[in-house]
Amino acid sequence: MAGANTTTIELLKKYNFPIQKKYGQNFLVDDNILEGIVRAAQVSETDTILEIGPGLGALTGVLCRAADQGRVIAVEVDKLLIPILKESLGEYENLTVINEDILKVDLSELLSEEDGVAREKARVVANLPYYITTPVILELLDKSRFIKSITVMVQKEVAERMQEGPGSKSYGALSLAVQYYALPNYIMTVSRNCFLPRPDVDSAVIRLDLYEEEDRPVKPKDPEKMFRIIRAAFNQRRKTLANAVSHDASLGFSREEIVSALREMELSETIRGEALTLEQFSRLSDLLG
Ligand code: SAM
Repeated sequence: MAGANTTTIELLKKYNFPIQKKYGQNFLVDDNILEGIVRAAQVSETDTILEIGPGLGALTGVLCRAADQGRVIAVEVDKLLIPILKESLGEYENLTVINEDILKVDLSELLSEEDGVAREKARVVANLPYYITTPVILELLDKSRFIKSITVMVQKEVAERMQEGPGSKSYGALSLAVQYYALPNYIMTVSRNCFLPRPDVDSAVIRLDLYEEEDRPVKPKDPEKMFRIIRAAFNQRRKTLANAVSHDASLGFSREEIVSALREMELSETIRGEALTLEQFSRLSDLLG
């Protein structure tokens, strides 16, 4: 392989490392891609970086060098990787490794302050474990006030879904959540051959540039309600929007109320959620209740 990352391959051999499928461990073994991710993330030397799943540290090392006057916080769930990271990256004083499940970490606390001083917004950079891509992205978007950008390697289809609009098969709740909080930039497709072990699908790097709250493309009165409507609409994709949303008793909207709101928006009462834009979901949410 042209830009093979020998360190990762050597570390795997040296420690006879037991690769854990359950943790989505597909290690990147291509230096060009590692450099490409850090370039795409637009890391500057004073940045605070949150890396999710440093693995054997191949991306972490590049990040530590790029943000040499800033900080890299790397959260890794697999405790077997911690001593290896300490040995291979011990030289970097700007690195903090946390042995935790990223979905259990209090991100607000981790990213909001250091020694009582408010931090600059962080950049998130990760070759994400695919089994938790969606919950991790949704959690990061929810904490968007602490984050400048999210640059991640994900399955190619998931990267595409993040940018889709109505009319596409993969358009859904994830597309709408991403596009409400961020401007997605598809950076590059990455072949499955760049990983060890080789996954069954190709991947892609995407950068999400998070909006300041006042710059978001829509301003529903109650964003939480809009997202509950979106989730209800896409939970039952094949139903009409009026049927799917009225079916969700926790929302408490009758079919008639929804049809009447759709009429006001000059939309058919048989329209499905997958045909509505983010703007239309925002308007519908304001009209309902
Ligand atoms: N960054 C490394 C690379 O690019 O070679 C490893 C990427 S590998 C796709 C995903 C990494 O995330 C693994 O190291 C895995 O152990 C870790 N991981 C899996 N689930 C995690 C979780 N819930 N919280 C934190 N790290 C996790």
